[in-house]
Amino acid sequence: MSNIRFQALQSVATAEEKKISGYGEKKITAIFASNVFTGRTMREHLSDEAYKSLMNSAKAGSRVDRRMADQVAAGMKSWAEERGVTHFTHWFQPLTGTTAEKHDSFFTIKSDGTAIELFDGDALIQQEPDASSFPNGGIRATFEARGYTAWDPSSPAFIMESGSGKTLCIPTIFIAYNGESLDYKAPLLKSIAALDKAAVDVCHFFDKNVSKVTATLGWEQEYFVIDEALANARPDLMMCGRTLLGHGPAKGQQLEDHYFGSIPERVYAFMQDFEQESYKLGIPLRTRHNEVAPSQFECAPIFEECNIAVDHNTLLMDVMNKVAKRHKLKALLHEKPFAGVNGSGKHNNWSLATDTGVNLLSPGKTPRTNLMFLTFFVNAIKAVHDYDDLLRGAIASANNDHRLGANEAPPAIISVYIGKYLSDVLDEVEMRVKEKFTEQDEVILKLDIHKQIPELLMDNTDRNRTSPFAFTGNKFEFRAVGSSANCASPMVVLNTIMAETLKQFKKDVDALVEKGDKKEIAVLQVLRDYISKSKKIRFEGDNYSAEWAEEAERRGLNNFKTTPEALDAFVTEKGKQLFYDNGIYSKRELEARHEIMLEDYVKKVQIEARLIGYLATNHVLPAAINYQNTLVENVRGLKEIGLDKKSYKAQLNLIEVISGHIQNVNDNVEAMLEARKKANEIADYHKRALKYCHEVKPYFDKIRYHADKLELVVDDKLWPLPKYRELLFMR
Ligand code: ADP
Ligand code: MG
Repeated sequence: MSNIRFQALQSVATAEEKKISGYGEKKITAIFASNVFTGRTMREHLSDEAYKSLMNSAKAGSRVDRRMADQVAAGMKSWAEERGVTHFTHWFQPLTGTTAEKHDSFFTIKSDGTAIELFDGDALIQQEPDASSFPNGGIRATFEARGYTAWDPSSPAFIMESGSGKTLCIPTIFIAYNGESLDYKAPLLKSIAALDKAAVDVCHFFDKNVSKVTATLGWEQEYFVIDEALANARPDLMMCGRTLLGHGPAKGQQLEDHYFGSIPERVYAFMQDFEQESYKLGIPLRTRHNEVAPSQFECAPIFEECNIAVDHNTLLMDVMNKVAKRHKLKALLHEKPFAGVNGSGKHNNWSLATDTGVNLLSPGKTPRTNLMFLTFFVNAIKAVHDYDDLLRGAIASANNDHRLGANEAPPAIISVYIGKYLSDVLDEVEMRVKEKFTEQDEVILKLDIHKQIPELLMDNTDRNRTSPFAFTGNKFEFRAVGSSANCASPMVVLNTIMAETLKQFKKDVDALVEKGDKKEIAVLQVLRDYISKSKKIRFEGDNYSAEWAEEAERRGLNNFKTTPEALDAFVTEKGKQLFYDNGIYSKRELEARHEIMLEDYVKKVQIEARLIGYLATNHVLPAAINYQNTLVENVRGLKEIGLDKKSYKAQLNLIEVISGHIQNVNDNVEAMLEARKKANEIADYHKRALKYCHEVKPYFDKIRYHADKLELVVDDKLWPLPKYRELLFMR
């Protein structure tokens, strides 16, 4: 009896830890960024003039002069060729959710027939990939399939190694011929610029020396690692990255023995390997540990400027997938690979840093810097309060729907946790002066937050793990982001809503100052107003509890439970206006994006529906029928030798139970098919997505229930799909 499951189990039993060459021979600093065209490498390979011009463009986010681009390209090429690179690619992040590359060689033939290696400014600055097959939400009809990738000089070029191949990768944005963005990076860069401008203006209330504010991002990536052979024996894992069927194992995560436990050796070798590859690419990984669920892990880097951090996260996901193969493992980045155990998230730690070296979300040491901290802190809360629907929309996906609100991950209700101490501070500012602030109230400016820092930190080490948006001492942690998501989506929203709120804040303060208020007093007045207006978004309790859902409803907070509903936020008048005013998306771009996200949702659910139908019909039912036949044979034999019904009562009962489940699986698969047909007839994307969500998807649970019951009764030898205990505990 050798089905693919048993072959896979056999291969796990003999799998060995793969030794990685060179690991530990060098310090991390010796290999760090060795495949990156860093500032230092640039110095060596570029003229002073080209170096300065590139650095300025990177800082200002402006175009590189065409003549300089030739020089930069030549420098990059010589650097890359020294390392055995023969090809280059514009590396971009289309809305497919993965990264895209189209490789070209440096090799070319001149008009006189001479073969040469060439990489000039044109090739560096702009490329025209055949873009018709990337999602574009109708922006660009296929017949005018022109999309351009354009160099992003603010993210350094790097060399990607794959087997023995090495490719020079140029980070780029991806735009349509008319400039509309078709990727994640273009809007991200715009949001970073908008936030920079708005934040610098507000900084000037406190410090005229600030000339640039950068958004910083430190992501924490959760993932599962399982044996590749076992994964390949599960069509659902192979095609959707998650299990659609499978009864929970006797032991799951209830003993909590996996969290921070020792890392299994095969996985450890995999981690060391992908970390090493990441270091070469300049990804500053720092932390690794086991997560709560069996076979679940996490890694996190040191935080970086937002754009680079986003690039590094997408690169890391790519590297993990590639390196896992070497170890005959599979990295599952899906938000919910297994029912019954925790899913995976990607916490986005976000803050703002000035070019004077100040973290704007870090409490200051003097009253003046405290007021600056308080300003950015309160504005962030106000931003979340005003645009919670957009934050919810930014993390919505078919995958993340399985996680949000599933009593293991933040709920779909957005709220902010700031801890007891800061809650008291805000309450104090709000309550202390009922009427207008006066000069005497400058006492409030002396809120000695810094003296309380030990308390503040204590408060935060014990912080609320259930909150979707938590202040953790010197940054906000957006915890509801899905593990497979591109961080750009939540970052674009966060940066933009913060920019908008800060712009309004400046206007409000200026208005009071014009009326004759002292600046500090005006700032406090407006802060007090914002604190009180945004109060309902603050929640310090248990976000997983049922009481919170009720309380949130009483407070009038949004609770978009599913993706199709959550995505509406992007096409409300308010949402469109916000993105338009801040120069992030035109209204048309937003509508296109909305359509792309809905389309993505429909496709994901559709693929899962097909697969669950296939698994049920082609794997589960045959195994069940097979086993039932054995039972029938058995009963017939017992009858033949003259035993009475009493002796095969159990078998008869089992035969009946199996029949019941078979019927149920079959009926639900058929009904799901009908529901799908109906859904597919709907032309409108929004309506179709809702149909898939509310009328197709519910069949998944029904089918699964009966299929999993069959798994429990059918002879283990006959079961074709690797079981949860094997997937989760064998490696
Ligand atoms: P944990 O949240 O697990 O307790 P830390 O607080 O040390 O761990 O940091 C978590 C993540 O937050 C790390 O990825 C770190 O780089 C990031 N981080 C720390 N400071 C900042 C900041 N100022 N801006 C953005 N991310 C930050
Ligand atoms: Mg954290």
